[in-house]
Amino acid sequence: MAVYQYRCAEHGVLEVARPIGTAADAEPCPDCATPAPRVFTAPRLSLGSARNRALIDRTERTADQPAVVSAAPSRPAAPRVHNPVHARLPRP
Ligand SMILES: [Zn+2]
Repeated sequence: MAVYQYRCAEHGVLEVARPIGTAADAEPCPDCATPAPRVFTAPRLSLGSARNRALIDRTERTADQPAVVSAAPSRPAAPRVHNPVHARLPRP
């Protein structure tokens, strides 16, 4: 199976899974039933689960749509570990 993308002028991109080589030139949009023309993209074959595909999609989006932040993320405080053995370690 391969995932083919189509773009409805009103509702955006939709994805359809079809056997390789069987993609139609247009698919009806599930929202408005208007024929959406096919968008040619890089093949996405055997990417595993939907979770893996979502991760790959997010990673690829960072190339042209990086998340912009105004400040560095706050770093959580390091956990404090109290181990009596550490008191015997050599000090500089
Ligand atoms: Zn539509």
